[in-house]
Amino acid sequence: MAILPIVMHPNAILEKECEKVTDFDKKLKKLLANMYETMVEADGVGLAAPQVGLDLQVAIVDIGDDSGTVELINPEVIEVDGSQTDLEGCLSFPGLYGEVTRPYSIRVRTQDRKGRKIEFQAQAFLARAIQHEIDHLNGILFTSKVEKYITEDELEGYEA
Ligand SMILES: [Zn+2]
Repeated sequence: MAILPIVMHPNAILEKECEKVTDFDKKLKKLLANMYETMVEADGVGLAAPQVGLDLQVAIVDIGDDSGTVELINPEVIEVDGSQTDLEGCLSFPGLYGEVTRPYSIRVRTQDRKGRKIEFQAQAFLARAIQHEIDHLNGILFTSKVEKYITEDELEGYEA
């Protein structure tokens, strides 16, 4: 496994719609493993393939709870409900944080690493992290959704 360099904004690959994965092979498994290692090393809760320079609809999310590591391949949000506003950051924007409003609850249709189609529900922070990563795969950055930027000084004791 390897730590991959993270692409920082601005970079064109962060703002394009990524290509669908068609080969569910060893290379994909290796990419998922490397992305996981890179995310952990960077202390992130999610990472999308364009953030490591790859034009592919692959993302992972791990918020450190019972849900474990969620692997998203060619994912889409097919249902949304409710609303939540909270702080968000991004590994491609070090030191930048802002308030983003997103649906509270989502239903996701995706493929797993073997190419099997699956659907699942997610709520609260997990749903936020998944939506942030799926946005990346569509070339959408969280900065386009920030309602209010929060400085690093204001981060301590922050409550939405
Ligand atoms: Zn991000």
